[in-house]
Amino acid sequence: MTKDLTVGVVGLGAMGLGMAASAVRAGFRTLGFDLSPERAELAREAGVEPVAMLDEAFSADRIVFSLPTAQDVAAVVERMAGLLQGRHRIVIIDTSTSEPQVTRRLAQRLAQMGHGFLDAPVSGGPAGAAKGALTMMIGGAAQDLADAQPVIDALSAKALHVGESGAGNVAKLINNLLCAAHMVTTAEGLRLAEAAGISAQSALDVLNAASGRSMMSEVHFPTWVMNEGFDSGFTMALMQKDVRLARKLAEETGADMPLTEKAAQLWAESPYAPTDDFTRMGDFRKEG
Ligand code: NAD
Repeated sequence: MTKDLTVGVVGLGAMGLGMAASAVRAGFRTLGFDLSPERAELAREAGVEPVAMLDEAFSADRIVFSLPTAQDVAAVVERMAGLLQGRHRIVIIDTSTSEPQVTRRLAQRLAQMGHGFLDAPVSGGPAGAAKGALTMMIGGAAQDLADAQPVIDALSAKALHVGESGAGNVAKLINNLLCAAHMVTTAEGLRLAEAAGISAQSALDVLNAASGRSMMSEVHFPTWVMNEGFDSGFTMALMQKDVRLARKLAEETGADMPLTEKAAQLWAESPYAPTDDFTRMGDFRKEG
């Protein structure tokens, strides 16, 4: 079935490509744009119509962003602002892990032109994106959400409306701060296990059957750390960005968080390259 709305996806990386494929599977005509022509060609194989220019992606009714940073999101919106003046109503669903203040500014600007902008960051990784089974945490106006709902349903298994514009970004930064902390605390636990004479695998099996578990211990360690695969598809650069933004949020709000502050410091000072997978921080075989 082909649905009435056309979807544009801007950013066809590890996450955006899978989301575009999920939109196609749900029956939407889907246009895809990426700065990298190779990514656009990969999208074609999934049934996406690659477009060469950003403004062609903006001919769609609902536009999904999956871009690295808030600065990339703002730059795309600024570039399109002239074109959007007086045009048919669009709603942008920004799934990037972005910054609440940038989101609020963009949402206000677009609302003045009659357009919608939701912050809708996601959890679930490239596999969740490809399956249309992400968890989405949404900030924004109820009408924008209602208008975007069919697309949100195609991309997510669970979508939570957290509050007003920026609320989704806040929730996502808290979530990823905890992922980052769980990654290092789980690695420390397994290091202690080996130092105290039990195998890391035995300790992990216990954690995952007991109360010390987390998604890091249940999914990330078994899938990408224990086998030294380190290829979850989420880079050090992106996780370091998230931890840095969560830390900034704590500074701005005055929230006291001494333990996660220490975890944030470990991530900021990591010896790994920005392009390395973030699961390398779980390598309990190396000293912290
Ligand atoms: P990625 O680097 O794989 O993909 C980003 C894509 O955006 C690249 O293909 C790049 O060429 C493209 N791009 C950059 N600027 C652009 C522009 N101006 N116009 C068009 N395309 C542009 O990153 P990713 O892992 O897919 O992450 C995307 C976003 O989702 C990030 O904000 C990240 O924090 C978030 N996220 C990632 C994961 C994950 O597991 N990878 C999970 C949840 C959230």
